[in-house]
Amino acid sequence: MAKLHKKIRCKLDDVPEACRINDYLHGPKDSDCLYDLIVVGAGPSGLFCAINSMQKGKKILIMEKKSSPGHKLLISGSGQCNITHDGNIQDFLDHFGDHGRFLRPALLGFKNSDLISFFGERGLKMIREKGDKIFPETLQARDVLNILTGQCQELGIEIKCNQAVKSIARNEDGFLVAVKAAAIAASCW
Ligand SMILES: Cc1cc2nc3c(=O)[nH]c(=O)nc-3n(C[C@H](O)[C@H](O)[C@H](O)COP(=O)(O)OP(=O)(O)OC[C@H]3O[C@@H](n4cnc5c(N)ncnc54)[C@H](O)[C@@H]3O)c2cc1C
Repeated sequence: MAKLHKKIRCKLDDVPEACRINDYLHGPKDSDCLYDLIVVGAGPSGLFCAINSMQKGKKILIMEKKSSPGHKLLISGSGQCNITHDGNIQDFLDHFGDHGRFLRPALLGFKNSDLISFFGERGLKMIREKGDKIFPETLQARDVLNILTGQCQELGIEIKCNQAVKSIARNEDGFLVAVKAAAIAASCW
């Protein structure tokens, strides 16, 4: 996943029809758009990153190469999504030996309990199964994805599917993100 803290100009005329009619495409369809942030990939990381980056007045775009978000998330845990693990974060870090130091800020910055609260506050409770594995109580990965995409929709985050990002380059205004069917120009935030 890559994210750009820059404004992005996207020429929607160049976006394939399959994308324009996609259910996940929210926001303006027939004019140029200027984005503050582009996230590449609508997996759980990209969706969550966009949700947490959203600020009032900002425009965020997620570009996904597949036809819909969260393909891998939907097959996680055999479709049930073992979303996290119960227990103390330090115990968790200890499993990674020396690499635990690298993971520490990320895991302490947003703990397993924070994740459970995030989904609980949005109506999806979690249950603990054998081995301290945490699953959505519905045992449906789809419900996890629905919370993330629903949150994007609520916040006005656009998700464009069938958009494989081919390159990201700096230009004089900021960045240029190239996808198969279009060039997207970026200016500084
Ligand atoms: C069979 C299986 C079972 C699993 N079970 C579990 C589980 O129970 N619990 C668990 O925690 N994890 C599980 N995982 C792992 C989990 O699925 C991943 O950790 C998670 O999906 C990673 O999320 P991500 O957003 O980082 O990456 P991904 O889910 O891989 O999302 C990345 C997204 O970026 C898109 N993309 C990539 N390149 C481009 C590009 N150039 N342009 C546009 N879009 C692009 C991809 O299409 C994809 O949608 C499982 C994985 C598999 C394969």
